[in-house]
Amino acid sequence: MAAKKIYLSSPTMHGEEQKFVKEAFDTNWVAPLGPNVNAFEKELADYVGISHASALSAGTAAIHLALKILGVGEGDVVFVSSLTFSATCNPIVYEKAVPVFIDSEEETWNMDPAALRLAFEKYPNPKAVIVVHLYGTPAKLDEIMAICEEHHVPLIEDAAESLGSTYKGKYTGTFGKIGIYSFNGNKIITTSGGGMLVSADEEITKKATFLATQARDAARHYQHSQIGYNYRMSNVTAGIGRGQMLHLDEHKARKKEIYRQYEEAFRDIPEITLNPLNKDGDANCWLTGMVIAKGCKVTPDDVMDALEAENIESRPVWKPMHLQPVFAEYDFITANGEGQSVSADIFERGLCLPSDVKNTAEDMELIIKTVRRCFGR
Ligand SMILES: *Cc1c(COP(=O)(O)O)cnc(C)c1O
Repeated sequence: MAAKKIYLSSPTMHGEEQKFVKEAFDTNWVAPLGPNVNAFEKELADYVGISHASALSAGTAAIHLALKILGVGEGDVVFVSSLTFSATCNPIVYEKAVPVFIDSEEETWNMDPAALRLAFEKYPNPKAVIVVHLYGTPAKLDEIMAICEEHHVPLIEDAAESLGSTYKGKYTGTFGKIGIYSFNGNKIITTSGGGMLVSADEEITKKATFLATQARDAARHYQHSQIGYNYRMSNVTAGIGRGQMLHLDEHKARKKEIYRQYEEAFRDIPEITLNPLNKDGDANCWLTGMVIAKGCKVTPDDVMDALEAENIESRPVWKPMHLQPVFAEYDFITANGEGQSVSADIFERGLCLPSDVKNTAEDMELIIKTVRRCFGR
């Protein structure tokens, strides 16, 4: 077994983070507000090219507040990508609203516009649509936005995995009425934990900050007219984020390079296909995924076992939400006919390869050699 562990996607710190954190300590801004929080909001908003941002304790909190702000409540239908992490749709259920899961298409692995159209036929009045940009690949935003606009339904972009990815030259997270990002430990940049809600509408981000700080009315005495949350980002955490922002482009470039290295290395193995990158976009390649051809005897478990034996971390593709026991009661819409599902097929045949910014040339060589061996190469 290799002595060193090779990670899927672990935090990569550079040193500037400590400078901003030290500043927070030196000035005693160790609180869920302060200059780093304000600056991080501005720096992230400037980077993605949107006017307003609210820094929060998690991406999940950002999705929750997005739903609250759009008025999603008990019994409301929300359309959401099925192939994602549970954090995308848990907040729908926090609000006793009803998720309706939408299948993926093959070209980006994201929400299928054809399935979304069918969903609108069956449920004409959803309160919101949440689209995910899986593994950093932008969804088919033109088609999805057009459908949402036609039905006057707001779009929330879960860009937790796609910070730095663009679609037709514009950053993901800035297309919808509300966009959210995550800075969890394994994301392209991290603050150890944290999230951001962005919008071109200042009323929305103001409302998010208000709800995230216990919804305190503008009065000296502690008065509340609404239920609030403790969801604000701390000034220490925001300091880490400011340092990480300086390296976002570098992380993206490295992750894209990792994707290209895998692509090159498996080019002669027809049984392996990598996760698609939207041709209209520039993906951050947060994680490189692969699927094994139908009928091939090698399974994702075989590959993950072989990697594990070399102390290399990998993971399955997200298990679609419509297959999760906890969401069994909710509807699933596919454009592929009864019992067919692109997302389930990707899950059954797919896995995620180590995509850590710190992977060395030797690490990549070992990973590639191990995967190739599974296919008798
Ligand atoms: C990580 C992630 C989230 C949740 O973000 P947290 O900051 O961990 O709460 C939401 N959606 C997707 C698709 C994610 O990958």
